[in-house]
Amino acid sequence: MSKIKIAELFYSIQGEGRYMGVPSVFLRTFGCNFKCAGFGMPRGELSKEAEDLAEVAHMYTKYEDLPLVSTGCDSYASWHPDFKNLSPMLESSAIVNRIMEILPHKRWEDEHLVITGGEPLLGWQRAYPDLLDHASMSRLKEITFETNGTQKLTPEFKEFLTKWKITNHQLNREITFSVSAKLPCSGEKWEDAIKPEVVCEYEQVGTAYLKFVIATEQDFADAECAIAAYRSAGFKGHVYLMPVGGVESVYALNNKAVALMAMKHGLRYSDRLQVPLFKNEWGT
Ligand code: SF4
Repeated sequence: MSKIKIAELFYSIQGEGRYMGVPSVFLRTFGCNFKCAGFGMPRGELSKEAEDLAEVAHMYTKYEDLPLVSTGCDSYASWHPDFKNLSPMLESSAIVNRIMEILPHKRWEDEHLVITGGEPLLGWQRAYPDLLDHASMSRLKEITFETNGTQKLTPEFKEFLTKWKITNHQLNREITFSVSAKLPCSGEKWEDAIKPEVVCEYEQVGTAYLKFVIATEQDFADAECAIAAYRSAGFKGHVYLMPVGGVESVYALNNKAVALMAMKHGLRYSDRLQVPLFKNEWGT
């Protein structure tokens, strides 16, 4: 039986991207290859909020008590090693049991599964087949992987997903890769973060789209360069612009400007509904 280190497992409304507004189970795995300490900071500077909180990590025993941050990665506890004790390693049957408990009708109906992180394609690809093949998951129709788009699919997982999609043909199953590619405003290096060939491979398995977090005109200029790189590699999917802002005060400064920017350039706008609706608290 496969195990996955689970940072959070909760039921909410998808606040971003293609499935915005859809009731969804969020499975947040532990671990990420990035830190994204540049979000919300002046260009070239890195946030210390996550590191400062890590120094007092021993004070927290559950995710719901963790403070929100206004700069850097808003899911810092899902990858920072000092918070790893908050994320249990669970067998897939235990994860499925918990999912059934939180689904409103105790079975899959029209809800969608979001596998997020951290970076969910980092090391857990080998464990997902056990989870998705569980009998209680057989009515699941739609999965989204919320990824930073740097992790190749293993040949085994690619084969599994391709078969999963056509099993129970009448369900019209869909697999989506919501790729939040990291621009320089994240603090990550371009050559580490922009991997067009990886994202093009996702399109062989399901629907992939790009989602860029934007705060300034410079961020948009960076997004345009990235989009050109993805397109020249053959990427065909949609592109969304999404405002920076894990807390309402930052989000409210950016959302309208980013929506207008998206309109001006004929791109899609993604909100972050979890911020105005739920203050982006842990578990939402
Ligand atoms: S890739 Fe996502 S989870 Fe990882 S550090 Fe960046 S924002 Fe956080």
